[in-house]
Parts: sequence; structure tokens; C-alpha cells
Amino acid sequence: MRECIVVGAGAAGMSAALTLGRARRRTLVIDAGQQSNLAASGIGGLLGHDRRPPAEFYAAGRAELTAYPSVEVHRGVVAHGVQEDDGSFAVTFSDGRRERARSMVLASGMDYRYPRLPGMDERWGNSVFHCPFCHGWEVRDRPMGVLAEGAVGVHGALNLRAWSDRITLLTNGSELTDQHREQLAVGGVGLDERPITGLHGPGAELRAAIFADGGELPIGALLVKTTLYQRSTLARDLGASLTEPDEMLSVEAIKVDAMTRTGVPGLYAAGDAATSVPPSMAAAMASGYLAGAAAAVQLAAGY
Ligand SMILES: Cc1cc2nc3c(=O)[nH]c(=O)nc-3n(C[C@H](O)[C@H](O)[C@H](O)COP(=O)(O)OP(=O)(O)OC[C@H]3O[C@@H](n4cnc5c(N)ncnc54)[C@H](O)[C@@H]3O)c2cc1C
Repeated sequence: MRECIVVGAGAAGMSAALTLGRARRRTLVIDAGQQSNLAASGIGGLLGHDRRPPAEFYAAGRAELTAYPSVEVHRGVVAHGVQEDDGSFAVTFSDGRRERARSMVLASGMDYRYPRLPGMDERWGNSVFHCPFCHGWEVRDRPMGVLAEGAVGVHGALNLRAWSDRITLLTNGSELTDQHREQLAVGGVGLDERPITGLHGPGAELRAAIFADGGELPIGALLVKTTLYQRSTLARDLGASLTEPDEMLSVEAIKVDAMTRTGVPGLYAAGDAATSVPPSMAAAMASGYLAGAAAAVQLAAGY
């Protein structure tokens, strides 16, 4: 039996594994290799790694883990997990392999869902983005759109003025209240409520949003409202509680306390999977570290 299974080797899972390895705990990391920011050309806002390509960052993390003999990192997908009567965790991989451990860290990241419009996928993480702190610098001073409705759209558009003074809120057919219209007008933000049919530009670059009436708006970048869902039912299957996404809190996060405990004894959650505030690499690394430390303390204390 292992001492800990970590699901996911992104910033959170590798940070947890590093902490567990340094505490000499027999740790198995299982990772499907789909870290959420791989589409981006660089990591924005991670001190010491600012603008570093994500794949390079993850390769460096995996290399650091090889220094710790008690840590194994395997490529694979955890398909199912249960807590046994003795409190240990049993997981089954999609290839049928089974593993058991006395504790578990869920660091499986999130499924970022944004409006499905033609032209979004190929620009995602670069000229189409969900987080201005991550990508706003790279597209600064371009004319930009914000694709979102209601109060979230108004807030997002006003906030984006830090990166450009040519911002237009695109509501894709939904109408704003008079109060919201006034807020945008006072803030110098444009408004276009026409339904959108797609995005246009060469390759991953963005030149314009195209409307259903045939018109277009020249923009060089687009901020889109994104809702984050769990990537699988693993957390629920293991008995963890989740938040419900709503308009402002667009995240189905695993509920944890300040030490990343889920409430299920021995089960910890870190990174995006357990983050109900805007997610980031820095926050994922910090919570992964805490999860690794909390699991190591639990194992050392023998409870
Ligand atoms: C396009 C994009 C760009 C971003 N840019 C930035 C940025 O510039 N700066 C910044 O600070 N933040 C950025 N973020 C946010 C940042 O990437 C996340 O906050 C961070 O990656 C979360 O780390 P994580 O370890 O929790 O999850 P992830 O990095 O998503 O890693 C989770 C890992 O778990 C694996 N996994 C999931 N389920 C299973 C399973 N059942 N079995 C095995 N493995 C599994 C996944 O394949 C993945 O490899 C960006 C996000 C996106 C979507």
C-alpha cells in the first residue's frame, strides 16, 4: 500500500508530490497530461517563471521530482476511486490497474467551458482568454471585446480598461439593464448586443468578431466568461462536497478548509479543482504544497 496517491501532475499535484517526497512518503502521482494552460504560449504572472512556456515548466517540475526516490509519476487516468472500510483509498485506472493508498490528493484541475462559437478553440489561451491577469499584458493596447452577459460582463469590461482604452462588451444577443448601460457609458466602454456567429483572423490571431447580421467589429483580443467544472466524478464518488456554479461564482469547486482537507478523512484537494476564487498557477502551487504537507503530517501522526 502506498502512503499517498496524487491525482494530477499540474502545478498543484507536482507541488504536493514534491512536499510528500521531501517528507519521504511513498507517493504515486497519476497524470493524464492535460494541464489546462498547455494551449497558452506562456505563463503570465508566476514569479520566477513569468512568460515561460507551460510545457517547459511541467517538464522542469517532473525533473525535480526524480530527485526523490519515494515518488513515482505515472502517465494514466484514474477512472474510479473508493474509500475502503479501513479508511484507505482504492483507485482503478482506465487500463484496469488498481492501486491503494492511505491518503489521497485530488489535483485533477478543471474543465474550462466557454461559449461554443466558431473560431474560439484555435485562439483559446492566446487572443481568446478568460483571465486578464494571465494574458492581458500580451494583448495590451489592442481593441478588445468582452464576451459575457449581465453584471459579470459589465464588471469584466470595466476591469479590462487597465489593459486597453478600446473595450467593447459583447452580450451575444442578451440585453443589459439601463443601470448597466449607464455604468458602461460612464466608464467609456462600448456595447454591442448583436448575436455573434464567429471570430475571424489569420491562424490563432484575432481580427474581428462577426455578427449574425453580417456586420463585424474589429478586435485584436477577446475576454470570455468561462465556467469551471470538475473533470470527472471522482471527488463526488469519494464523498467530497462541491460548490454549485452560479453567475458570479462560476466554479464547481471541491469544498476544502484552509489546510485543503475535504472533510473525508485522508482526502485532500488542491489547485483549480478546489479553488473557488479566480484560479492561477501561483494559487495551485501554494495549495498543492499545503495538501502535501497536510497529508504528510496525517501519515506521520498515524491517523
Ligand atoms: C488557457 C489557460 C491559460 C491559463 N494561463 C494562465 C496563466 O498565464 N497564469 C496563471 O497563473 N494561470 C493560468 N491559467 C490557470 C492555470 O493554468 C491553472 O490555475 C493551473 O493550471 C491549475 O493547476 P492544477 O494543477 O490545479 O490543474 P492542471 O494544470 O489542469 O493539472 C491537472 C492535471 O490532472 C490531470 N488529470 C485530471 N483528471 C485526471 C484523472 N482522472 N486521472 C489522472 N490525471 C488526471 C490532467 O490531465 C492534468 O494534467 C490558465 C488556464 C487556462 C485554461
